[in-house]
Amino acid sequence: MKQTFKYRVYPTKTEEQWLFAEFRHQKQLQNYMLQMRNQMWDYGSKSVSMYDQINHLKDLRAATSHYSEHPQDMQVSTIKRVNAAHEHFQRRCCEGAEKKGYPKFKRSVRSLTWELRKYTKVVRRKTKDAPKQTIRVRQNPIRETGTRYNRLKVPKLGEVKIRQHRPFIGDPKEVTLKKTARGWYVFIVCEVPDTIPCVPKSACGIDVGTHKFLTDSDGETEDNPRFYRQAERKLAKLQRDLSRKQYRSRRWYKAKDALAKQHDIVACQRLDFIAKVVYKLFHHKDFDVVVAEKLKPRNMVKNRHLAKSISDASWGMFFDWCKWAAKRDGKHFHQVPPHYTSQTCSKCCQKSPIKLKLSERMFHCKSCGLKLDRDHNAALNILHRAACALRGEVWDAILCETRNPLLQQACWS
Ligand SMILES: [Zn+2]
Repeated sequence: MKQTFKYRVYPTKTEEQWLFAEFRHQKQLQNYMLQMRNQMWDYGSKSVSMYDQINHLKDLRAATSHYSEHPQDMQVSTIKRVNAAHEHFQRRCCEGAEKKGYPKFKRSVRSLTWELRKYTKVVRRKTKDAPKQTIRVRQNPIRETGTRYNRLKVPKLGEVKIRQHRPFIGDPKEVTLKKTARGWYVFIVCEVPDTIPCVPKSACGIDVGTHKFLTDSDGETEDNPRFYRQAERKLAKLQRDLSRKQYRSRRWYKAKDALAKQHDIVACQRLDFIAKVVYKLFHHKDFDVVVAEKLKPRNMVKNRHLAKSISDASWGMFFDWCKWAAKRDGKHFHQVPPHYTSQTCSKCCQKSPIKLKLSERMFHCKSCGLKLDRDHNAALNILHRAACALRGEVWDAILCETRNPLLQQACWS
């Protein structure tokens, strides 16, 4: 299993300039490699392999200093990135997809990635006669200084100041240095041993929404913080400031940075909130199994009245985090089909033919008389549905209208 650790990096002005120059070089290289691939593909659906391109890079490095003065590991990572993009494109071509989606040429690159190499280390002999032993270890990207700030080793640049607020665990494999609106960050991808999934003892179903962020099957709710809505006025002002500056002037760039920072703040607030909610579910409330709906936020945002609220709630990110946290901590996370969860009674399984409006917060079953908060009812349904799936049954609401049309008319009219 892979786990990524994120740390803040503080390069000096000179180091920053070197990094920006590296961004430009990697962009050029990426576009050059992509062009080579595209031309060959257009020539007769032929593809250049990643290894051909890496060999070509070797020749280029031997021929000119324009290539050899940049770190090879970063260049190889760029080629791998092009390869991944092109492989997806080829797959879509083979499948006969409507939109083939040519990989795009880059206008800018904002991150540098390099793989950490393995080297042979000689193990110290305990006795003189003991045979010589060697092991293969990966280089550590961070040098510890024993002070508040450690040092990150960047190929060809040297050591850059880093605030390692907690140690990483596992075997570091890949490093990515990224520039965001609010500063520089490093992401260290580590290989950690898999956690064995626990035996489930407690479970909960959750229903996500825009009114409350989530409601669980115990009836407890989590408020929706609506970070984007909160920052909307501030963002509008910053956007207005930007629009009134002369394009690409010094003040325009300043205003652009200020706007980007505010957007970054909103994104970070959202991420922080989601991470805390997920942790609360799995650890504070101690649920071993969490079940949610299998929603498709991408389709749901097509409703233009709800698009902003749905995007602000970021359910997709929440589900991804649940999946990942469950895998990391040995818990379970499942998703069930979302059809009619808020229209069905959780007590008697009768499906109401009337669709509740978003403003109606209570579910009232006219068959058994159950009165419940609509999200709580949906959360219970989700949990029941998962339990049915676990037993190998197909969960099905009892359709009132198919059984007895007269009774249905009498009940629901
Ligand atoms: Zn009922």
